[in-house]
Amino acid sequence: MGFAAASAALGAVRVRFAPSPTGFLHLGGLRTALYNYIFARKHKGCFILRLEDTDQSRVVPGAAEGIEDMLEWAGIPPDESPRQGGPAGPYQQSQRLSLYREAIELLLEKGAAYRCFCTPQRLELLKKEALRNRQTPRYDNRCRHLSSQQVAEKMSQGVDHTVRFRLKENAEPFCDLIYGWSRHEVASVEGDPVILKSDGFPTYHLANVVDDHRMHISHVLRGTEWLTSTSKHLLLYRAFGWDPPHFGHLPLLLNKDGSKLSKRQGDIFVEGFAQDGCLPEALLDLITNCGSGFAENRMGRKLQDLVKEFDMGRIERHSALLDLEKLTEFNRIHLSQRIGDETLRPQLVAELQAAVEEAYGHQLVDRGVLEKPYVEQVLLLRRGHVSGLKDLVSPKYAFLWIRPSVSHEELQTISVEAEKIGMLVLRLLERPVATLTTEELSKDLRQLPEQIRGTPYSSVMKLLRLALSGQQEGPAVAEMMVSLGRREACARIQRALCR
Ligand code: GLU
Repeated sequence: MGFAAASAALGAVRVRFAPSPTGFLHLGGLRTALYNYIFARKHKGCFILRLEDTDQSRVVPGAAEGIEDMLEWAGIPPDESPRQGGPAGPYQQSQRLSLYREAIELLLEKGAAYRCFCTPQRLELLKKEALRNRQTPRYDNRCRHLSSQQVAEKMSQGVDHTVRFRLKENAEPFCDLIYGWSRHEVASVEGDPVILKSDGFPTYHLANVVDDHRMHISHVLRGTEWLTSTSKHLLLYRAFGWDPPHFGHLPLLLNKDGSKLSKRQGDIFVEGFAQDGCLPEALLDLITNCGSGFAENRMGRKLQDLVKEFDMGRIERHSALLDLEKLTEFNRIHLSQRIGDETLRPQLVAELQAAVEEAYGHQLVDRGVLEKPYVEQVLLLRRGHVSGLKDLVSPKYAFLWIRPSVSHEELQTISVEAEKIGMLVLRLLERPVATLTTEELSKDLRQLPEQIRGTPYSSVMKLLRLALSGQQEGPAVAEMMVSLGRREACARIQRALCR
């Protein structure tokens, strides 16, 4: 059995994400791709990436690769795509032109389409006239009425032409998986649309329908901006005599305040988030949290949870509001989950090692800080406190990798007993215990003020934190000591306090 017969016989779920490669993948696109991916996984189906690049003037070099890269980065790689290949390829519309030409011939033969010889000047004039009369511009369908003789004549003269689809009245209603029953009487509001441009490229509507049919797409899940085009697409299916797929239109993704997600600010491109060290699972969690399709909204869901919990019936019709300010918190939660996962932790260790090398390489006195046990301990101790690995190489955490410079005068202003405190802490650290634990150390540190009259606990901590890290703020002193290890902690205390 061939591929076509096999997928039809099995009633296989096949969905597609069909962006135009006109720029970077943005969050709205990622969300559409994600819902398609989830739906495919839920129904043991196939997720396809198809690039709709028929408007060659808008194609941006490298954008196609970028989109597929980002789907892979996000952990939702397509099963069939330009890169992966597959039985229904090619997956780039610019490589499928012969299929569209074949389809056009079919429509012309059936009389469902016709050649239009109107010049761009005439069309422009029509538009201007409509605007002057405060009407929506639409083609007046003039070439519908050309006789076959007139057409043949123009063809023999080699006159430039397009092909238009003859819109039929009485578009049938259809039941959208999300919006319910819908119908758009396209013929009464639009002129016959161009389906083949004079440059030989099809327009979106034709190529989209031909490909969804030929790629055996079972469900079209796309942005709600296409809802009103669906009646037109259904008329095309009817003209071809093909069964249409099911349609589901996803509500828009908007900013928290309900405004359009801005592409101009450059802060909604997936590439930017990836470069910033955002975890893909945090981004997926964020963009599904504000939207619908799940019984509850909760943080910390991973892709497999999203697949398990997704329920198409729960997608609501109102727009999803995205609160990007919460991304840090989503990252914190997911980073903590990754650190806690022994299978994922080694990768984090390697990434942090590379980040430390990059940030402090030339300043590292003790290259032991790059060793796996040390780096892993840093991750485990700071788990839940940081939202990205890059936090751990920021100035706040520089003390973990390089020795701080500490001003002696500053220490003296905190307590005149600085030296005594130093001695006591050294004694504490040098006790013969097998391993230092944060709990034990904090308990011991708490008792220090009893031995030094006049310096309150908070000042003791301030002093020690400064001696260990050169910083006024940071992790608890006991944690710093455990992190640095007994030897290094002692060396720093000695150097700063015991002169
Ligand atoms: N190329 C269209 C887009 O950008 C695809 C729409 C559809 O999924 O049918 O968004």
